[in-house]
Amino acid sequence: MNGGAGTGTVVVTGGGIIGLACAHYLARAGFRVTVIDRAGIGQACSYANCGYVCPSHVLPLNAPGALLAGVQSLFRPRSAFRIKPQLRFDIYRWLFEFARRCTHDRMIAAGHCLQPLLESSMNEYRRLFDSTALEGEWKEQGLLYVFETDEGFASFSQTDELLTETYGLAARRIEGNELTGFDVALKDGLAGAYFYDDDASLRPDRLIREWRSELTQSGVEFVEHCALERVHRSNGRISTLETSNGELAADHYVFAAGAWSSELATELGCSLPIEPGKGYSLTMSRPDPCPQYPMLFPEHRIGVTPFDEGYRIGSMMEFVGFDSSIPEHRIQQLRESTRPYLIAPADNEAVAGAEETWYGWRPMTWDSLPIIGRVPGLDNGLLATGHNMLGLTLAPATGRLIAEIACEQPTHVDIDAFSPARF
Ligand SMILES: Cc1cc2nc3c(=O)[nH]c(=O)nc-3n(C[C@H](O)[C@H](O)[C@H](O)COP(=O)(O)OP(=O)(O)OC[C@H]3O[C@@H](n4cnc5c(N)ncnc54)[C@H](O)[C@@H]3O)c2cc1C
Repeated sequence: MNGGAGTGTVVVTGGGIIGLACAHYLARAGFRVTVIDRAGIGQACSYANCGYVCPSHVLPLNAPGALLAGVQSLFRPRSAFRIKPQLRFDIYRWLFEFARRCTHDRMIAAGHCLQPLLESSMNEYRRLFDSTALEGEWKEQGLLYVFETDEGFASFSQTDELLTETYGLAARRIEGNELTGFDVALKDGLAGAYFYDDDASLRPDRLIREWRSELTQSGVEFVEHCALERVHRSNGRISTLETSNGELAADHYVFAAGAWSSELATELGCSLPIEPGKGYSLTMSRPDPCPQYPMLFPEHRIGVTPFDEGYRIGSMMEFVGFDSSIPEHRIQQLRESTRPYLIAPADNEAVAGAEETWYGWRPMTWDSLPIIGRVPGLDNGLLATGHNMLGLTLAPATGRLIAEIACEQPTHVDIDAFSPARF
């Protein structure tokens, strides 16, 4: 997106990674941008996620096996994927629509919609780190999928084949006996791994801190503890926003409220079926030996990410509403699940010390696709939300698209599949 095509003002509601990326591209296009957040900037789901920027994650959560995993989770409280029965109609409608899409054909089709967005985001991240002083611990090191058992390794070979043949995403297969030579932090006796060397990683909280500061210097205004309460409309346009700090008026309005977006549906006069998908992470000092590569352990549904000064384990997908507890058994589960793989697992006393436990609510759509585009019936309203498990990865491409739409330019990626009007 070239600078200078946009004129006027924009208010972005939501200061997560998506709101920041929108602010970046809108400001570069020439708009004067204000970002409001009802809490702190970057303190919600974008704060302590696993930090993967992963074009390899092209397959949506709506996979044929997801339905069975969901039903089984009703009887297994320790399952990483968990649905808690609730007295809310919305969650059952959401689960029904999700389940309808758990077919092979729909999974493949959703992957085809996501892939150009994933590729664009990777390119945009590269440009961002090349053209600014931002660091954010950006590392193009790849992502290692490690398997404990021969069955798990063999079963992933089918996924690998599908990713290679359908999307051209070829991974390097590493046999168990080569693994310790690949990363010294791994234990002997593991079955093997697949290495996606086009994936990258960064430290989300650090990137957000640096990006916010860079945007502030280039004129973007951030207003924390400012909640959007009402949206005033007239003649098919938004006229003002009523916030906890008073009224705000602008030429364009971007809504990037993450998991809370469904609360805005009535105000915006459209359907926004987004459910919070809760996950947890544990950040601690680096173990010795510390993994050199970001890794996933798919059999335990766990991700581990080494940072310059720390190390993070993240996992779980719970549909439990906006429950803000951090149960000790979930944190214990995160610790224990590294045991089969790492020489110095997270429950090692030498590692335990200063630790940060965290939860985040992912903005989950029932078709696993984000919502990017104009609010139906409101010319100057734009939605940038519903990024599911990939908000960090997809942020730059989303920001670029929002700026292109605000400038009434052709979009660099086809956005029909992400239209807010599809619900
Ligand atoms: C354990 C875990 C691991 C993950 N790992 C990865 C990963 O490795 N890679 C990846 O790509 N993604 C990952 N994700 C997903 C990613 O974190 C999310 O998709 C992303 O953070 C969503 O960003 P967002 O800006 O939409 O939402 P958020 O970061 O939640 O921001 C939304 C903001 O909107 C504000 N807001 C809401 N309502 C209002 C209102 N009415 N008025 C004003 N402000 C409002 C909130 O306060 C909040 O700050 C992970 C998630 C979890 C939980």
